[in-house]
Amino acid sequence: MMDRSHTAQPPAGAQSSPDAAQRKARYISTRGDKTERRFCEILLEGLAPDGGLYLPVSYPQIDAAKLARWRGLSYAELAFEILSLYIDDIPAEDLRAITQRTYTEAVFGTPEITPLKTLEPGLALQALSNGPTLAFKDMAMQLLGQLFEYELARRGETLNILGATSGDTGSAAEYAMRGKAGVNVFMLSPHGRMSPFQQAQMFSLQDANIHNLAIEGVFDDCQDIVKAVSNDLDFKRKYKIGTVNSINWARLLAQVVYYFAGYFQATRSNDEKISFTVPSGNFGNVCAGHVARMMGLPIAHLVVATNENDVLDEFFRTGVYRVRGSAETHETSSPSMDISKASNFERFVFDLLGRDGARVKAFFADALNSQGRFELSPAEHAAIAPYGFQSGRSSHADRLATIRATYQRYGVIVDTHTADGLKVAQEKREPGVPMLVLETALPAKFAATIEEALQVTPPRPAGLENIEALPKRVTVLPVDVEAVKSFLVAHV
Ligand SMILES: *Cc1c(COP(=O)(O)O)cnc(C)c1O
Repeated sequence: MMDRSHTAQPPAGAQSSPDAAQRKARYISTRGDKTERRFCEILLEGLAPDGGLYLPVSYPQIDAAKLARWRGLSYAELAFEILSLYIDDIPAEDLRAITQRTYTEAVFGTPEITPLKTLEPGLALQALSNGPTLAFKDMAMQLLGQLFEYELARRGETLNILGATSGDTGSAAEYAMRGKAGVNVFMLSPHGRMSPFQQAQMFSLQDANIHNLAIEGVFDDCQDIVKAVSNDLDFKRKYKIGTVNSINWARLLAQVVYYFAGYFQATRSNDEKISFTVPSGNFGNVCAGHVARMMGLPIAHLVVATNENDVLDEFFRTGVYRVRGSAETHETSSPSMDISKASNFERFVFDLLGRDGARVKAFFADALNSQGRFELSPAEHAAIAPYGFQSGRSSHADRLATIRATYQRYGVIVDTHTADGLKVAQEKREPGVPMLVLETALPAKFAATIEEALQVTPPRPAGLENIEALPKRVTVLPVDVEAVKSFLVAHV
């Protein structure tokens, strides 16, 4: 008997593909609100009004002929084709121009945009971290910057993005929005707690629409301030406050593209299957892989790799999803995966449960709020296999060992997050199925741990050698909601 998990597409409810010519791209919430919204209606939004996340009403199906045609496309053209299936309220020529402006060799360093680095036959890294901030979040955020500028101009509106960051997300957002018309960014970070390189990346931006606010507290203080400002609905409306967090559907959609791009580079024919291992935190990256697989991309397995913060690995092994408290959330050497709950995970659970919004709500709103956990039935847990997910976890010692072994064996330096992926990928590889490990950051961003492992300083991309010496544009503020509000009012 064939291994079902290799061949079957899951029995999800809503996959039928209407004729592309009359396609309507519509979005619904994961918590039961069936109001159908268009792409540009949800582009600037976070959560759906009922607290759920947006997903398309159905996943467009990619048949063999279309897959064959896409194989020869440039990254920007491929992005245009995929985005077109999910966006019906931006004219095609505008959308094409947006993708052409976003995915350029000038911004991402190579004509392939996400090139493969083969380690050995059947095992390669897919480089997602050659954008301006050296981490994979640029892949989506750069597109979001273009889409926001386009849509705000079309509406004649402005938006003030307010966020909190401890590193990757904030810098990716600032580099995507810098100089964009109609958008200001106010990014809070814990004063003195980011690495000198991360501080330099953000604070060296001199663009008038980018505002760095260093808060005299910890990351949680920054996040609490953002929440307090956003919960003041009058203020939020008056000053047009928005966010760019990882639950934004457009960010997830942008990430679907590189699964196709990786597949085409790793295979010669569309009869082949490959697997992906994804260093995971909030489940945004690997959720895009899930969407690609639901569209029909021949993916054998999606391997979820976590660090010591193993909420997701525990779920896939046991069917129990248990949110961690702050005392149980570890600060690790792969910090961008240090999560207590995985904010995009609800999207997969919605598909897994046959798109039963009431049941998703019972899990994510009711059970998580009252008990901090939910548990799948044995039948529901067994139903995960056809979706191709596997999982594993990695520790600080594993990261060091993987960074050393990868350097010795292949002469390649990987960053700490990619090392978590590589460690788990080695455990899950199967003969005859190429494995791509998503490289989510460059080692230069996490130099201290690389030095601990290798006694070697990872090279920096050209132009960033002396970034710490550049003039800094940052305002230090106390842990005080009113101080942040006043700053905002004075600078919009
Ligand atoms: C954000 C991030 C991750 C985790 O991605 P999710 O989409 O949250 O799962 C992994 N590695 C790096 C370097 C990141 O910046």
